[in-house]
Amino acid sequence: MLLSRTKAKTLKRRLRTFTGEDLGTPLIAYLERTDRPTDDSVEKLVELMGRLRSGEDTRDEMVDLINQTVKNRPELWMMPVASRTPEGMVTVTDGPVSSGPVPRMIATLLVEWNRALVLLKRGLLDRIRRCAKADCGKLFWARFSHSEYHADACRLAVEAANPEYKKNRREYMRRQRKAQKRKKS
Ligand SMILES: [Zn+2]
Repeated sequence: MLLSRTKAKTLKRRLRTFTGEDLGTPLIAYLERTDRPTDDSVEKLVELMGRLRSGEDTRDEMVDLINQTVKNRPELWMMPVASRTPEGMVTVTDGPVSSGPVPRMIATLLVEWNRALVLLKRGLLDRIRRCAKADCGKLFWARFSHSEYHADACRLAVEAANPEYKKNRREYMRRQRKAQKRKKS
């Protein structure tokens, strides 16, 4: 079967997305909300991951946080739920384990906590970062492991203020080009 032009386009767009970004983007939107619980396990987990990334050993704290949260908060448990689709397929999605009405904030927390855990399982939780420009600090999804700034404008501003960096960068690029040439020949 041939894909219609629009379908092919959608598919192409989907293929261009970056691993984990589909989970990271809504998680960041959640962390930017001001109506979150004060003692937010999701925020804590992301923060501990950030500190681990910058060299502080927060592994025990992370292990405790996850195991304690899972143990003490059954309202955040998820389980696979199977259902029929109108198109004649069967799908399995994750749904809450606890039945009955759930307060809206708990329902949100359930989704975001599990998103954070999936990212951690995939080794991608550290891609949620704060922009390294001191007066910015905006949360962003790092598409590449080396991304440190939420936007090019922030990166350029920091680099422009640091002549040493520019010099090093120039030398680094020169070495890269040389290595490339050697590879080609
Ligand atoms: Zn920034």
